[in-house]
Amino acid sequence: MGGCVALVVGAGRGRRFGGDVPKQYRLLAGEPMLRRTLRAFAEHPGVDAVRAVIHPDDRDLYDDAVAELPLLDPVPGGASRQDSVRLGLQSLIERAPDRVLIHDAARPFPSPDLIGRVIAALDGAAGAIPAVPVADTLKRGDSAGLVAGTVDRRGLWRAQTPQGFHFGVILAAHWAAMGRDDLTDDAAVAETTGTAVALVPGSEENVKVTTQEDLDKAARGLGGGTPEFRTGSGFDVHRLVEGDRVTLCGVEIPHDRRLDGHSDADVAMHALTDAVLGAIAEGDIGSHFPPTDEKWRGAPSDVFLRHAADLVSRRGGAITHVDVTIICERPKIGPHRDAMRDRLATLLGVAADRVSVKATTSEKLGFTGRGEGIAAQASATVRLSG
Ligand code: MG
Repeated sequence: MGGCVALVVGAGRGRRFGGDVPKQYRLLAGEPMLRRTLRAFAEHPGVDAVRAVIHPDDRDLYDDAVAELPLLDPVPGGASRQDSVRLGLQSLIERAPDRVLIHDAARPFPSPDLIGRVIAALDGAAGAIPAVPVADTLKRGDSAGLVAGTVDRRGLWRAQTPQGFHFGVILAAHWAAMGRDDLTDDAAVAETTGTAVALVPGSEENVKVTTQEDLDKAARGLGGGTPEFRTGSGFDVHRLVEGDRVTLCGVEIPHDRRLDGHSDADVAMHALTDAVLGAIAEGDIGSHFPPTDEKWRGAPSDVFLRHAADLVSRRGGAITHVDVTIICERPKIGPHRDAMRDRLATLLGVAADRVSVKATTSEKLGFTGRGEGIAAQASATVRLSG
């Protein structure tokens, strides 16, 4: 069939971001990063078709993100980036393009000119990559953390994507390189078969988004301004009845009573879930998980909190801090505090030092003082990309 196909690889998990949504689906100035990346190719006159390589678990996220874009069906990736690229290339065999551009989903700013330069260079070479010359002085360090020498930076370049190749050449090179784990880009795969790869000018704008800071910086570059911080609060009460344990912040504590409720009645996690939902103005726990729905009978409250954290991620946000206060005379919370913080940190995908759990009594006053129930209040702070 010929032509030029762009293969955008976004099958990774991006765990450094925390939360449940892989980074390529996070919002960048209101648009999922992957969509912005795919759009750059779909709108380029030199590109005839665009295919994404995605993680099989992300199909719903993908469908939501790319709605209405003219794309080939996505294909599932493999365990490593190299596997994912090979699977993507194999999926194009039937289509038999002349040229393929291989690009990372996490580089959302390839300019039309840059894409055009790579395509044009394929007239004279079987491979072409955008790259920028190394500007910083390079040092080699030793195991003691001392400078062991200065590396001559002349002739050194930082490789970017999209990397362009004649289709048959890069497919053969990927097959020949199967099982190797030392090749960090497709040019390196091509080099193993002696393919000549041309260098074309890259761009400092064509950044790879790896951390939340990169995402914030990229959003600022789009005129998004500084990140916005919001705080939400939550409050909940559950009755104590005959029983043998209570669950608080996801930690089971042996007790002579239990908390009554439709789910596991984890009053502290409910307050926190409402705080997280409050920070993004997304209603309350009852509107997302109606107590009239039999599905939630006895449900672990993890589900509720993870859903709230997921909504924050989908907004391009990150939870920066949460603070929970449990109000009861008994059981004693102190011995379980660290386990609670760890549990909440895991569920929220944040470091434990961003999670505070406190406890107080009500001086034997009121329903908490009489041991009729446990109350909890919480606050959550989220950072939304501007
Ligand atoms: Mg509740």
